[in-house]
Amino acid sequence: MSIKENLNKIQQELSEKVTLVAVSKTKPNEDIFEAYNAGQRIFGENKVQEMTSKWEALPKDIEWHMIGHVQRNKVKYMAPFVSLIHGVDTLKLLKEIEKQAKKNDRVIPCLLQMHIAKEETKFGMDEDELREVLTSEAFQQMEHVKVVGLMGMATFTDDEERVKGEFEYLKNLYDTIKSDYPKTERLDVNILSMGMSGDYKLAMECGSTMVRIGSSIFGARN
Ligand SMILES: *Cc1c(COP(=O)(O)O)cnc(C)c1O
Repeated sequence: MSIKENLNKIQQELSEKVTLVAVSKTKPNEDIFEAYNAGQRIFGENKVQEMTSKWEALPKDIEWHMIGHVQRNKVKYMAPFVSLIHGVDTLKLLKEIEKQAKKNDRVIPCLLQMHIAKEETKFGMDEDELREVLTSEAFQQMEHVKVVGLMGMATFTDDEERVKGEFEYLKNLYDTIKSDYPKTERLDVNILSMGMSGDYKLAMECGSTMVRIGSSIFGARN
């Protein structure tokens, strides 16, 4: 099936309340343009440099989401244009985003990445660390970042019950944070980013509001 057909099929499966991020990492500009021509405007990348060169080359009404792990020294390259950073997992990184957003006279929306998988290699905070960030003095003073929700990646496994348990944990945490912390200028929790090609249907059932789908749209990556 073509990129356009894949996109249409997935769009039909998604509930109206769920936002689709088309994950275009490693894929050429022609593929992104094909998805763009089919109406897709939100694309996700996991490398700052690759995202920046795609941003330069492609239509300016595309919203670019950084979904990968971010090194602090790379924030400055995407600060002028990034629409949402999904993988914020330390206060240090949030401070750097604040600094670079300020230089660009912008407010950059961010998601805090939670560690929900069992694997050691995955990034993310636990609940205590999340609460520490949200109550920190440094965060209270920020004026150029806005925490708009949480993001998580489930364990890569065929064990559906396990994945479901991880998604349910994240949804619960999302609901708790939403009710525990009042809405402010820099905190407005309304996005729950969870679900990829292999598990987005389950993620939606568990309350996801944003899915990040790559291979089911663009085909397998090398
Ligand atoms: C690559 C990636 C995706 C998309 O993965 P697919 O299985 O190709 O849909 C989603 N989220 C993150 C964080 C990724 O790095």
